[in-house]
Amino acid sequence: MKRYNPKDIEPKWQGIWEETGVYTADLQSSKPKYIAMSMFNYPSGAGIHIGHAMNYTISDVKARFKRQQGYESYHPVGWDAFGLPAENYAIKAGVSPQESMATIIPMYHKQYKAMGWSNDWEKEIATHLPEYYKRTQWIFTQMHKNGLAYQDSRMQWWCSIDKTVLANEQVIDGKCWRHDGPDDPPAEKREVKQWFFKITDFADELLQGLDVAAGHPLGQRLDRLALSVQQQPLHIQRAVMAALQAPHTGQHRYQELFQPIRAGLQLSDIHASECTLAGGRESTNT
Ligand SMILES: [Zn+2]
Repeated sequence: MKRYNPKDIEPKWQGIWEETGVYTADLQSSKPKYIAMSMFNYPSGAGIHIGHAMNYTISDVKARFKRQQGYESYHPVGWDAFGLPAENYAIKAGVSPQESMATIIPMYHKQYKAMGWSNDWEKEIATHLPEYYKRTQWIFTQMHKNGLAYQDSRMQWWCSIDKTVLANEQVIDGKCWRHDGPDDPPAEKREVKQWFFKITDFADELLQGLDVAAGHPLGQRLDRLALSVQQQPLHIQRAVMAALQAPHTGQHRYQELFQPIRAGLQLSDIHASECTLAGGRESTNT
């Protein structure tokens, strides 16, 4: 048997996939749709790492599996140029994110394609492009007009290395989750003026929605939604737990801790301080 030689075989097939657009999803087709959504990359100068290989291989396997089952399977690809690693890279390089992304993203293209992931490149998204951010700016403006986005000064966790606020979940044993080495400084509390989203206005509604999403076929299909089902209540749950001065026990006790809270407490009583714009949650995609 001929030895498998990736240098010959893989570029050949990747070239054919690209030419024939075999992974371009036709969202108007009559087939049932499947979106294999994983979070968009925050590009930095370092290129892809093993965390990306894990994230996108998982969604790729799901996308391919569903394609074989007859679904119009869409495996999106995109770049979140406003993620912390991308911003820090631009600051370090002394250029605007626009400039840094223009050189970095093409490098990622090569690496993604070499991985053989079945992404739909025709629908590629990049958040530093005006065609994208004009929409997020519009959404923000609408929220601001309706009093759902507002500025305030609050005591916040602050990482002196990242020069950014941290969400409660990003402070682990008193240190920033990215800078928890023995020589790294502890995270400190600082009064910071910043933007807030008033998500607690919707806390009860969000909780009710989670029950619906968990039992709905759509909830089972969308990876992203599954992630929100796990993560959103954690935010609210932690706020509730802080209010009750309950111990910080983590997600595995979610059911046990959350059920009594659902039953007996109006979540809209809790202040909005747990959700900040800059202190959002990030996972292994860094
Ligand atoms: Zn940090």
